[in-house]
Amino acid sequence: MAYRNYSQAAITMPPPPDSSRQATPDQQAGTQLQQPLTVPFTGADIDRASELREDRHELQRLLAHPHAAVLGASADSVLVTDGAKPHLLRRPVGGHVNPHQPILLGIDGGSPLFAADLDDPEAQSHSKDTGVGRLVTLREAGLLLPQAEAGLAAYLVALLGWHRNHHFCAGCGAPTKTTHGGLSRRCPRCSRNHFPRTDPVVIMLVDDGEGNLLLGRRIGWAEGRFSILAGYVAPGETPEEAVLREVAEESGVRAHSPRYITSQPWPFPSSLMLGYEASADREATYTRDDGRSNSPAGPVPQPGEMVEVGWFSLEQVLEASRDEERQSVSSSSATALRLPGEVSIARRLIDAWAERGGRRLAP
Ligand SMILES: [Zn+2]
Repeated sequence: MAYRNYSQAAITMPPPPDSSRQATPDQQAGTQLQQPLTVPFTGADIDRASELREDRHELQRLLAHPHAAVLGASADSVLVTDGAKPHLLRRPVGGHVNPHQPILLGIDGGSPLFAADLDDPEAQSHSKDTGVGRLVTLREAGLLLPQAEAGLAAYLVALLGWHRNHHFCAGCGAPTKTTHGGLSRRCPRCSRNHFPRTDPVVIMLVDDGEGNLLLGRRIGWAEGRFSILAGYVAPGETPEEAVLREVAEESGVRAHSPRYITSQPWPFPSSLMLGYEASADREATYTRDDGRSNSPAGPVPQPGEMVEVGWFSLEQVLEASRDEERQSVSSSSATALRLPGEVSIARRLIDAWAERGGRRLAP
């Protein structure tokens, strides 16, 4: 699988000539991203058929189409076919789709595709025991399914999740009805339209230009488990501003030069991850000290959110990758660094950084 190539490449790569704090000329000059990142949950190539959704008769025609099919999902899982190379399970629509309020995903290779919520107790399709296929978690699906199918799975879970949690009008509290073939809901009392929400989250790889990454461990994460920092974009804020604010809040580090890299739908339940890289200079970059006198200031975890934050070297990241490949706890310590899962954009950004030798991207 494509994502494996990153870590394998990283593992076979020799460490930089000097992995100490001194920056190499290459690290100072910056480098280019070597290839576009392949990120799970992206690449759904379904035609979302916006022009067909306004027409109720058109929706009925699509429901009756001989190749119409329905995909099933619960809050955190999707139905897939059995076998070693699964796809999303496509079942006939009969009995699985409410004909009065269908949720049309779109047209996929000429076949109308609808969505069915396996968690809906009032739906005819309410059953996780479908007799065919199997349920896998969305995270598993992100690595198990072909790229476009995993993207479709993310779309399916995100859309059903929104419907599940928006049965009532946010304006007047009345029950709402599905409209627009499932891409909106309408309140019959106050005529307000509601649309699926997507919450932007910035997630940023911060490097010090000397071959080190800023990583943090959130409250509730196991010892040794770290990832790059992330946070919601606030109202009235650009993603670039959110990057700098979140880094400062979560670690006390003053970052600069945020650069957008790539994005990832993250329907847990409704986020869109905006992947950035940003720079920080190790000297005089801290917005607060750790309260200990006579110690050099460093990253300070945000109370109530982060347990630990710190700089990690390329060699530590490569060692964590090697441990993972061996599927063993680190030879050095039971609390050795553990990287985020390969389904996440965080891991893709970290692997791409390691693959280019821990070098900072050129501005
Ligand atoms: Zn209303």
